[in-house]
Amino acid sequence: MGSDDADATTPEDPSLRLLTRIADFVEPLTRFDRGHLALETSQHRTIELAARQIFRVGLDFVRAEGQGPLPDGVMEVANGAALAVEAEAQLASARAIIPGRLALWAADHGESPLRRPGVAACFTPPAVLGFVEACAACRGRGSIECKTCSAAGAVECPTCAGRGSRPCSACKETGKERCGRCLGQGYEIIHREETVWDAATNTGRTQNVPERRTCGGCGGSGNVACARCGGVGRESCSRCAGQRTITCQTCKGAGALGCEACASTGKRHFTSQLACTIRETFECSPRTSDAELAATLKSLPAIEQVLGYAQAHRTTAETDASTFRRETLAAIPVTSIVVAVGSRRANVHGFGPQQDIRDYANIAGILLSDDLDALESALPETTLAPPRTTPRMDAALASALASEANVAIAENPGPKGLAVVLNDLRGLLTEEHVRRTSVAMAKAIRRAYWAAMVRGPLALLALALLQFPVELMLRKLDPSARFSAMLGVMLLAFGGAIGAHMLVTRTLERTLAPGRTLHLSRVLSRQGHLRNWLLGAGVFVVLATPAVAGLANLLIPA
Ligand SMILES: [Zn+2]
Ligand SMILES: [Zn+2]
Ligand SMILES: [Zn+2]
Ligand SMILES: [Zn+2]
Ligand SMILES: [Zn+2]
Repeated sequence: MGSDDADATTPEDPSLRLLTRIADFVEPLTRFDRGHLALETSQHRTIELAARQIFRVGLDFVRAEGQGPLPDGVMEVANGAALAVEAEAQLASARAIIPGRLALWAADHGESPLRRPGVAACFTPPAVLGFVEACAACRGRGSIECKTCSAAGAVECPTCAGRGSRPCSACKETGKERCGRCLGQGYEIIHREETVWDAATNTGRTQNVPERRTCGGCGGSGNVACARCGGVGRESCSRCAGQRTITCQTCKGAGALGCEACASTGKRHFTSQLACTIRETFECSPRTSDAELAATLKSLPAIEQVLGYAQAHRTTAETDASTFRRETLAAIPVTSIVVAVGSRRANVHGFGPQQDIRDYANIAGILLSDDLDALESALPETTLAPPRTTPRMDAALASALASEANVAIAENPGPKGLAVVLNDLRGLLTEEHVRRTSVAMAKAIRRAYWAAMVRGPLALLALALLQFPVELMLRKLDPSARFSAMLGVMLLAFGGAIGAHMLVTRTLERTLAPGRTLHLSRVLSRQGHLRNWLLGAGVFVVLATPAVAGLANLLIPA
């Protein structure tokens, strides 16, 4: 838009100028042209506003402590008491200097409302102060006695309870085992040969005589000393190798642990730094009895907005010790008009020479309320299962979608989308209106989508039936070839599902926007229909295709 053209068409009268600004914003967002907005009354005022900026210089000590010696660049003092004295001196010196430097800055920039005093203008940071102390946790040693082993570096062996040995596993602590020679009998039988004279035959014959003797291996007791423990009854502990203690795991045998408080240095340092901050507060006092205008002007967040609206301003400033105050008296022209929208009225204000509109007083909401009412009243005639719409609902949805603001609402569903839309529309619609529209449009679009889907495009899923002849033709082939063929049928059917969504989109674009262009695909995907349809169709194809193959084999056996 060339500026010459704009000048030529911009009306001189400020109220007509404001109406034009409103129409320029509303017209592209609704299906209604500016003919629906009529200027009813208008009022021009200049509101006096006092804007107060207060800058308070504050001083604070930032204290820190840490492990080891002082960091580089810190000025070392003897101890905590010395640090307190030095810090107090730094504070006194800064306090003495700040008012003079602040006043000097104010003399140069005090009456320029957009200039803000910086810390550097009134404060030069003094040296960071610090001292070092022996670490309290380790008393300066850098390490701490190990509590687990009482600094010994070793602890009692838990396996043998510090005895160095454990009961012999072979003899159960008796020290004995059964004698292998007599098998525990204590005696052995030996057979001696004896010659016996037989008087009847007068011959001598030899006979074996068994004889019982005490066992030479065990001396008759049946037991010998245990070979494993040598008769002691206990064997050496394998965990501690008989040493009775093992290395302490906590200190790894050192008897002490590094001190965490000082990183084993034995020292801790403490520092104190004087820091300066400047806090700004801002408040506006508009002088008007109009409560709505007063509230709007009071909420201006900073001097920049006040100056943006001011036709003229006058600034005074004063410094008082460490506080700088500035007051700007601004004259803000305000054009207020009452716009007639059908039978309803909206009160809109334009602030400043540029007539900034902070709130469009629900003008679009008034224009679009009939469309919303029509859509809401048509919805009960429709159903989701089975999917069915009525010509009345289609017409109402078409009217609603003819307004750009409603398309924006449909493209931004959910609470997050609501916030986006409300922020963009600057009061052109109320939150309640946007919420109602969002719910009604989502419902209407869902019903229109599924109704259009079942009226034909859904049949494309029947492409999965191709698996029937494919199965019969390929049943002689090996499984991997048949699997590839089935995958091909699945992809074809899924492609059919994508095609069905595109057909539905095209159909809806024709029924909902006859004679004009409406790009519905964005709305349908933001409303989740594309995702839901492809998900459902995908599951169907994956389940139906193997089922068709099974059916083919069942009905026509090989
Ligand atoms: Zn320590
Ligand atoms: Zn230890
Ligand atoms: Zn024996
Ligand atoms: Zn033994
Ligand atoms: Zn042991």
